[in-house]
Amino acid sequence: MSNLKDTLYRELELKILTGVEGINFDPHIFKHLDLGGRFQEEVHCLFEGDHETHVGIKFPAGYRSPHGLVYTVKWDRRSSYSFIYEKGTYYLAHHGEIIFPVEFLERPNYYKLKTSDGTSMANLALYVQDGVLLIPYSNECALKDKGQDCKFCNINATKDTYGEAEGIGWKYPKQIGETVGAAYRDGARHLTITGGFVAERREVEYYLDVADAIKEHTGLDDFNGTACVGAPHDLNIIDKYKEAGYRTIATNIEVWDRNMFKAICPGKELQCGGWEHWVKALEYEVEVFGRGKVRSNIVAGLEPKESTLEGIEYLASKGVICFATSWNPNPGSAFEGHRSPEPAWHFDLYKKIAAIYRKYGFTYEEIYDCYAAPITIIHDIYRIEDEMLPVFKGLVA
Ligand code: SF4
Repeated sequence: MSNLKDTLYRELELKILTGVEGINFDPHIFKHLDLGGRFQEEVHCLFEGDHETHVGIKFPAGYRSPHGLVYTVKWDRRSSYSFIYEKGTYYLAHHGEIIFPVEFLERPNYYKLKTSDGTSMANLALYVQDGVLLIPYSNECALKDKGQDCKFCNINATKDTYGEAEGIGWKYPKQIGETVGAAYRDGARHLTITGGFVAERREVEYYLDVADAIKEHTGLDDFNGTACVGAPHDLNIIDKYKEAGYRTIATNIEVWDRNMFKAICPGKELQCGGWEHWVKALEYEVEVFGRGKVRSNIVAGLEPKESTLEGIEYLASKGVICFATSWNPNPGSAFEGHRSPEPAWHFDLYKKIAAIYRKYGFTYEEIYDCYAAPITIIHDIYRIEDEMLPVFKGLVA
């Protein structure tokens, strides 16, 4: 068994390498792939993660390693990793040497469907694997109007680049209810509602209407939803999300060092009572939702590793599951052109975070229920250590 785990850890390391450095390919290489038919395409609802934009050219959403880990596609022409297409098969290669043949992710059935007003369900709820939906109600952030958007974020640039070309806009509760109903009938079982700041912070009414629509169309009172929200000034608002039926809540602090938080997230500092209030909101969320039912996120690589780990440990001690996701210098963000730390830096951080979660007793079910996509490195470490992947049963995913 340890051989299989060693193999999986090597595939995990490669996932971090190709995630941080990206993959080089001719953007037209996927013309042989049935994207939007058999295979799932990338949809630009929130943040462009490729290191260059590619309007009008579809890329796949992701692919699997030989032992079943899910990799995402990040295009970067400077990378030493590449995709090669030869005799009907796609391969991942390094310096031109083939590493493995690539199996792209299949498109979920509900992507073919439209809501009663004719909107494509593929643009309403992204399928992020293993029964999880990511629903960005808006693909913009009102902080831009104040010049206070987070320096690593490209939500508004992504909307300007792809919004019209891909027909992505504001999503209405009924559209979301119908889409979740269809996806849950297909086997989905967890969702996150998220988006940028809404002018005048009016998101709570919207989240309550969305919860009602989801309950109506799924017939479920507990639909296993995460409400991803900014810290409200009035913390009592947090109770309303719980009453509306969300099982978990997420409030992303992004940076633990309070001075760096001020500089990198000026809107979160100025519109939400500052770093202290953000932490207070997370602690209050645990009072309302319970331990292991509140999530935060830090963008890993913006601050020293010790600071990130200090934040994750502090929040874990309070019952908050704080993730860290590798900083990707997104095109159109203020940090475009910067570099994330080396992949080994990230791998070491992930292993330390997983150890903190174990120390505080967080289970796989808790991290599954509170995070927006079940394909992070932390999820993978749990699935490898607890032998949860299909390959441990002799199956390939
Ligand atoms: S609050 Fe910050 S991270 Fe969130 S959408 Fe707005 S600019 Fe981006």
